[in-house]
Amino acid sequence: MTIDKYNFAGKKAIVRVDFNVPLDENGNITDDTRIRGALPTLEKILNDGGSLIIMSHMGKPKGKVNAKYSLGQIKDAVAKALGRDVKFAPDCANAAEAAANLKPGEVLLLENLRFYPEEEGKPVGIDKEDPAYDEAKKAMKKSQKEFAKTLASYADVYVNDAFGTAHRKHASTAVIADNFDADNKMLGYLMEKEVKAVDNILSDIKRPFTAIMGGSKVSTKIGIIENLMDKVDNLILCGGMTYTFAKAQGGHIGLSLCEDDKLDLALEIMAKAKEKGVNLVLGTDCVAGDAFSNDCNTQICNVMDIPEGWEGLDAGPETCKRFAEVIKPAKTILWNGPAGVFEFDNFAKGSRAIAEAIVEATNNGAFSLVGGGDSVACVNKFGLADQVSYVSTGGGALLEAIEGKVLPGVAAIKGE
Ligand code: AMP
Repeated sequence: MTIDKYNFAGKKAIVRVDFNVPLDENGNITDDTRIRGALPTLEKILNDGGSLIIMSHMGKPKGKVNAKYSLGQIKDAVAKALGRDVKFAPDCANAAEAAANLKPGEVLLLENLRFYPEEEGKPVGIDKEDPAYDEAKKAMKKSQKEFAKTLASYADVYVNDAFGTAHRKHASTAVIADNFDADNKMLGYLMEKEVKAVDNILSDIKRPFTAIMGGSKVSTKIGIIENLMDKVDNLILCGGMTYTFAKAQGGHIGLSLCEDDKLDLALEIMAKAKEKGVNLVLGTDCVAGDAFSNDCNTQICNVMDIPEGWEGLDAGPETCKRFAEVIKPAKTILWNGPAGVFEFDNFAKGSRAIAEAIVEATNNGAFSLVGGGDSVACVNKFGLADQVSYVSTGGGALLEAIEGKVLPGVAAIKGE
C-alpha cells in the first residue's frame, strides 16, 4: 500500500518516526529538522480523519528508563508543529487504553521505545562470549515479537517514516510489520522520498554519474566505494583519504592523516577503477597546515611532497578546479564526506568548491543527492542545502542503502 492512496478516516495509525532530536542541557530542542520532516505523513493521517499514535526512540538509554531521554520533553514541540494537542503515554508498552480512547484527529505520543530492551532486541547484561548468549538472544527475539505485537495492537494501520533507523531490524522499525497485512502497512512520505533518491542513484541513473566520497578514512567508506565502482563514470576520492592514496604511491605526506594498513587497499581501488573504466579522480595539490587548527600557517603543496611537520587539511586550488570540471557536466551526483577539515573556515574551500559545482550541475538538470552526516553539515554551512536535489536525513541508513544492502525497515513493508 502507498500512503497517498490510503484513506485514514476512522482508522488508528501507529507511525514510527525518527524524533531523536538534539536537546540542550535544559531539554530544549536545538534542531527540529526531524520533526518537520515527519509532518507531511502525520498531517495526511490527521487531515484524512484518522487518529495518530506516534512512536520513536531518543538517544541510547540501553533498555532502561532514563528521564534524560524521555520523549515527554518534546511533547509540546510536537504539539506546536502539528497545531493541536498531543497526549502522552508514559509507558509505550502499556498504552492500550490511551490508544483505544483516541478520537479522530487526536494524537498520542508514546514514551521512548528504547526504554525497553525488546525494541533493539539485544540481550542485556550478558556478554557475547558467554556460552548462554545464544539462548538469551533467542529468548530476547521472542519477547521482541511480543513487544512488537503489543505496539501493533494499538492500531489498524502501520506507517514507517523513520529513515534514520531503517537499517535496523528493531521491533518498531521492522518486526511490528508482520502484524499487519499488506494493505495496512506502508512507508511514510519521508521514507518514500529517501528510497526514491537512493533509487535515482543506484538504478535510475542518468549519465555521466559522478560520486564524490570524502571524509577522514578509506576504511569506513570501502563498502560504498566498491558498490559504486560498478555504477559510476567518475569517482572523486577526497578529504583525509587522499593521503593514504598518496603514500601508497610512494608520496611523502608529512603528518597528514593516513591509514597505514590500507595502503594495499588504496592500490587495489586504483587498479579496480582502471579495470572497470572508472575515471578515478584524486587530489593533486593540497592546503597543508603546520598544526591541526584554523589559524595555523599554511602552504600549497603537491600531495606527493608534503614537508615534514605539515599535514594536508584541504584540497588545493588545482584540485578544486579539477573536481569542479568533473562535477559540472554530471547528470547524477552523489556526495558523501567533505574534501577537507571544513569545520575550520580556512580549510573549507575544497568542500565549498564541490558544493558549488554540484549546485551548478543541479541547475543544469542533474539529480544530486547529498547525504551522510558531514556533507549535510557542509551544504548547511554554505547555505546551499536547498539548491541540491535532495539532502538525505539518513546517516547509516543511507550509507547502507548505497552499499546495496536491503534495509530491514523497507523490506518489512515491501516484502523484498
Ligand atoms: P567521516 O566521518 O569519515 O565522513 O569524516 C568527516 C571528517 O573528516 C570531518 O570532520 C573532517 O574534518 C575530516 N577531514 C576531512 N579531511 C580531512 C583531512 N585532510 N585531515 C583530517 N581530517 C579531515
